[in-house]
Formats: sequence, C-alpha cells, structure tokens
Amino acid sequence: MSHALEPALPAPQVLISEVGPRDGLQSVAATMPLAAKCAWIDALAASGLSEIEVGSFVPTRLLPQMADTAEVVRHALRHPGLTVMALVPNRRGAEAALEAGVHKLTIPVSASAAHSMANVRKTREEMVQEVRAIVALRDQRAPDVRVEAGVSTAFGCTLQGGVPEDEVVALAVALAEAGADDVGLSDTTGMANPAQVRRLFQRCFAAIGSKTGAAHMHNTRGLGLANCLAAYDVGVRTFDSSQGGLGGCPYAPGASGNVVTEDLVFMFEAMGVRTGVDLARLFAAREALRAGLPGEPIYGMTPEAGLPKGFAQETAHG
Ligand code: ZN
Repeated sequence: MSHALEPALPAPQVLISEVGPRDGLQSVAATMPLAAKCAWIDALAASGLSEIEVGSFVPTRLLPQMADTAEVVRHALRHPGLTVMALVPNRRGAEAALEAGVHKLTIPVSASAAHSMANVRKTREEMVQEVRAIVALRDQRAPDVRVEAGVSTAFGCTLQGGVPEDEVVALAVALAEAGADDVGLSDTTGMANPAQVRRLFQRCFAAIGSKTGAAHMHNTRGLGLANCLAAYDVGVRTFDSSQGGLGGCPYAPGASGNVVTEDLVFMFEAMGVRTGVDLARLFAAREALRAGLPGEPIYGMTPEAGLPKGFAQETAHG
C-alpha cells in the first residue's frame, strides 16, 4: 500500500509571538539600554520570528524599563513583515502606541477581581469599557491595527487563589463583544495545568469561536511547555514566549518567567509543526540579550543541550 501519489498535506503551522522585550524586560530590575533593545529585536527578527511584543506604553514612574517604547517601536517597524506589537493598559497608552505606529495592541484584563483592582485600580467591568474605548479609537485612527485582549490570571491568581472558570469565559465573551479581534488566555502567575488549559480553551472556542487567541504561559512551575501543548491540542495556534525565559530562572527562587521561546520552537519543529523560526539563529540572538543585560540569568533547556544529532529543520523563514 503506497501513499506516494497522495498530495502532501501542508505542514501545520503556529505563530510564536516573542514577548521577551516586554514581559521579560519589565520583570527584571535592570533597564536594557535602547540600542541594546534594538539590537536584540533585530536578532530575534533575523531568526524568523514574525511577531514581537516590543514594549508597553505605561507610566514611566511605574515601569522605567519601558520608557523608550515609542523609539523601540519605530526601530522595529524597519523590519518588513514583522508584526510590531505593544501592550497598553488603557486608552492613553493606546493613543501613544497608535501614534508610534504599532501593528497590534494587546490589553491585559484580569479575570481575577482582586488582581484587577491591585494592578490597574479598575474593576473588570471598567476594563471591558476601556477595551471598547480603545477599539473605537482604533476604528477612527488606525483601522488596520489589530486589538487583542489578554485575559490575565485566567488560570489562578496569587491574590485570590482560584479564579472561577465561568467568570473567565464570561469575561472573554464580554471582551469579544466589546470589539477585541482576539482574546487570549494568560497564565500570568504560572498556576495552570494542562487539563485546565485544555478545558478553558475549549470553553473559549465554544463561546467566542475564532476570536480565541493566544496562549500566554509562564514556566513558574515547569509546566509551560506542557500547557502550550495542551492548548495546541485543542486548536490554539498562537503562543507567547520569551527568549531565555527572561524574567524567571529555574535556579532562582520565585522564578516566574515566560515559557522559553527556544524550547517552544524546538518542541513544535520536532513535532513537524512549522514555526518559521530558524533555531540556530534564535540561539544566536541570546548573545544580543546577554550583551544588553549582563549578569541577568537566562535559561532554556534546548540551547544548553544543543539540537539532537540528526535533527534538521525542514524550513526556516517559512
Ligand atoms: Zn506574562
């Protein structure tokens, strides 16, 4: 029995959204200088990553690491084909981000009532209104810009503990109705497990269909990759991750960084799922990160172990 004449199915694909320059850099005490941020983003883009969250538009007094985000955006826009993304907590941040020329905005909205008040001093309902206002602003000023809402603390909260799944789903529905193009689920504090990830994303797909967005997993308890795979298995195709797991380190107490981009790309490529990312170039980009943040711990099992003997990537920059 031969399958030789059957047309080859196109390889499955995922979008890896690199969030290190935002989520990673805002989690470390040191501030990476502007030139180093630009060099790191250049190296990340050269690896084939097609979406990078380059910073956030937040008050400088709260996050001095992000003070130069507008300049970082303008630099990143030089890369043709790169989706330049920024986080904005409110309408004012969105105005600055649109002014700088981003392609995509992401707005964090806490599923945990306690986290929402502590983080942005707004209720969840007020944040849904903020998303609605940002969508209106986008429609008026930059209709091509995509607006993503990221449901943070969707899998648990360090302040209130468990977050009821019904509340997470209801919030995702409210955000989709408010006009968000995509609604992702974020394990902000690294409390998720694969069964929970599978269940909650399935409920999201049932409730808001194709508006279901990225899985944003943290590796706090070592389950980042398992959680990404669980999300992939139920249909998620966009994954946030951070080079070197920046912002957290398995050898340091209180590790809380994102899932490691290098390990995530390796997992998918080894499975035959295309990421468009060249692993050798991605490993090389770690040097730009190290140069910009000397002494900051970064990790990643795959870059430390090396690629397995005989491992060959079929395509890069796909
Ligand atoms: Zn995060």
